Amino acid sequence: MRLEGNIALVTGGSRGIGRAVCAELARQGASVAINYAGNSAAAEETAALCRQLGVEAEIVQADISSPAACEELIQCVKARFGRVDVLVNNAGITRDGLLMTAKEEDFVKTLDTNLKGAYFCTQAASKVMLRQKYGRIICLSSIVGLRGNPGQTAYAASKAGILGLVKAAAKELASRDITVNAVAPGFIDTDMTAVLPEKAKTAMLSTIPKGRPGSPEDVARAVAFFAAPECAYITGQVLCVDGGMAV
Ligand code: NAP
Repeated sequence: MRLEGNIALVTGGSRGIGRAVCAELARQGASVAINYAGNSAAAEETAALCRQLGVEAEIVQADISSPAACEELIQCVKARFGRVDVLVNNAGITRDGLLMTAKEEDFVKTLDTNLKGAYFCTQAASKVMLRQKYGRIICLSSIVGLRGNPGQTAYAASKAGILGLVKAAAKELASRDITVNAVAPGFIDTDMTAVLPEKAKTAMLSTIPKGRPGSPEDVARAVAFFAAPECAYITGQVLCVDGGMAV
């Protein structure tokens, strides 16, 4: 499956899973817009990686927790490339802590970034995609959104919310050849998981039938599957990339 002529926007494309997604989409021939929040050096590295793969790549700063910034981000990509064929709602954060002691600001920041960001990027992109009568939207959920995890109530709520967004948007947009799907990673080796205590990592690893953490590339291949023009009759679905963790 190839993506030549496609314009793809990846939120949080500067690091981790987002970077691997940018590279995989570039490998398939898509031009890539790489969104980031604050780490412009990392975003430039992703862009250089994509250009080495022979495609156009631009970095675009935007804090996707602001709906106005989401709208501006989509308009900026549309102005630069003329279209938005693929949107990957990847940007995300964790603010872990037990429910009993969780602070409102951590809940709000988590939901604003992970769910509100995906929601308003999807809204802004879908306006462009409806006019194009074509689009592929892929949202990063998590197996934590499917199964829950102690210490991650806000994160789990945000990632479960993504699944409702995906299913409802899939139904609204299907008639215009716009698909909306979710990828739910398990335990993936990125900056997000690097900060976990060793004890928590070991406990997590023991629950993975494959016996290893996933790589960002493992997730990127699943995202690229949903991004393909040929993937036209699959919508509203959730694909777990977790080494068997959630089975
Ligand atoms: P990561 O390594 O921590 O990278 C996070 C990315 O999101 C960075 O590119 C960061 O940009 C960007 N970002 C954060 N807040 C943003 C904001 N307000 N606006 C725009 N960009 C923002 O995370 P990751 O592990 O690759 O995770 C990527 C996605 O997969 C997340 O949605 C995460 O919840 C999900 N996921 C990850 C795992 C895992 O095990 N790693 C498991 C399940 C689901 P800067 O570089 O500018 O900071």
